[in-house]
Parts: sequence; C-alpha cells; structure tokens
Amino acid sequence: MRLCYARHAGRTFIGLAQGARWLNLTEIMRADTTRFGWLKVHPEPTIVDLLAYESDPRGMLVQVVSSLRAAGRLDDYLVAEPVELLAPITRPSKILAVGRNYLLHAIQDSTLGVPDEPIIFAKAPSAIIGPDANVIYHDYVGRLDYEIELAVIIGKRTWRIPESQAMDHIAGYTVLNDITDRAMQIQDIDKHNPWLRSKSLDTFCPLGPYLVLTDEILDPHCLDLTLKVNGEVRQHSNTSKMIFNIPHIIAFISKHMTLEPGDIIATGTPEGIGPVQVGDVMEGSVSGLGTLTNQIVRV
Ligand code: MG
Repeated sequence: MRLCYARHAGRTFIGLAQGARWLNLTEIMRADTTRFGWLKVHPEPTIVDLLAYESDPRGMLVQVVSSLRAAGRLDDYLVAEPVELLAPITRPSKILAVGRNYLLHAIQDSTLGVPDEPIIFAKAPSAIIGPDANVIYHDYVGRLDYEIELAVIIGKRTWRIPESQAMDHIAGYTVLNDITDRAMQIQDIDKHNPWLRSKSLDTFCPLGPYLVLTDEILDPHCLDLTLKVNGEVRQHSNTSKMIFNIPHIIAFISKHMTLEPGDIIATGTPEGIGPVQVGDVMEGSVSGLGTLTNQIVRV
C-alpha cells in the first residue's frame, strides 16, 4: 500500500493508491466521524496525524477499501487528475540523519573514516519540500551537494526498543535527498561547531514522492539507490551496503530519545556525492519507492 499527501482543486488530501489513481482518504474519513473522531481535532489531516491516531493504519485501510468496494462506492472517492504531489510527511517532530553510513562514501568522500557507531545529526523539518519542488541555491551557499538516501518513517512511539523489535515500529519508506551546503558544513566542522545549519537551509530536504508502507517493502536492505544530474548517473548503490542497518540505527537512536509517529530517519548516502549548479535537475530514486525530481534555482 502507498499513501500520498497531495493537492487537488486547491485542497490538500491524503491519497491511497488504487492502481494508477488516488483514493481520497481524507473525504472517506470525513464521511465517518464516528470511526474517525480524531478528525474533529485535525480537520485537515496529514499523514503524520494519521500515523499518530491510527494504531494499525494498514488494517484500517484494508477495512475501508473492502467496505467501500462491497457498497459499490469505491469509484466515488477516486480523485480526478491533475494531482500535485506534496511531501508525504510534513513537519514531523524531527528529521534525524545518519552520517557516513556507506563504506565507500566514508572512505572516498571524507577524511574522517569509518565510524564505530552511528553518527546521528538533525535536519530542520522546515527544510522539507515536495517531490517536484525547486531547491533554492541561496546566494551565500558555497557548494550545494546532493545525497540520495532511503528514508525510514516511524509508525509508532519508539523508546528504548531492542533491534529485534525495531522493524515493527516502521510505518514505511520514502526517498530523501539530503541536500547540503558542503562548504558551510566543512567550515563548521573545522571550527568544531555542529553542522545543523548546512543541512537545514530552506528547501534542502526534498521528500517523496509518496509513503510506501512496509507491506510493499519486505526487505529494505536490498534496494537500489540512484541519483542522476541532468540524466547522468552520479550515485548508484544498494541499501545492502549500509554499515549500520535499520534495526541497529533505530535501537541506537531510541536509546537516547523517543521517536514519534512520522519522524524521519535518513539512513545515509553512498559514494558519489558532488556539487550541482543553478539550472541542474536532480533525479533521486530508490527501487520500489519512486523518484524525486528537483531543479536547482536561484531566487
Ligand atoms: Mg546524508
């Protein structure tokens, strides 16, 4: 199953994929305020709200689709084209990212070497943009780099979870481009400062195109990652090459802080990072999860 957060005819909605079309889940939930009472608190629900209020989202979706189908009303909620896909997760409580989590990247792209435990840093949620939105080359940016990554989306509150249970806390997966002002990051590291700001400039977190729930991705450790610039492949690897795998990362983070529904974990980028210029088009994809297409613009 896959969910989108999108705009149609001036209104945002949560969509559930039905073949090539989207079912308007927001309208379906609004039509049943007994079952979906939490919509009174969140009349314009996001996917983060849905994950926070629905303890078993997949079970709920199966039930909703089968009862609409039985009533012959499924087609009533199909959304007409055109649909503008927005980032599937908007304003989560946090975006955490893992640094140097692919061996060749750790060796080739950094002088700091291979880490002996996950390096966790943050990106500001305000940096999130949609799968087709423009990335701004702010006028003071020294070098703007792409970093293709698999993003894990947390499904339920997670605190001090062992590796053996960590995968049960995942709602699904999406694609994330961890845009970085590399010059600013190196400058901050040289001064022994945190590198939050170089990762968090507005528009520096393209995300999407949709949230693919865990039923479609049986093993997230065998997915191809590709990043192209103007059609030319710059990064190509596989999530099997992570140094620290996903359960290890979740267990490690949740030892230190509570993960909330909708929280995003960017699991690291492989080798081949590099700069882009104004006008360039980046296409980042992960197998089974779709593609982000973002152009670099100056404003
Ligand atoms: Mg990264």
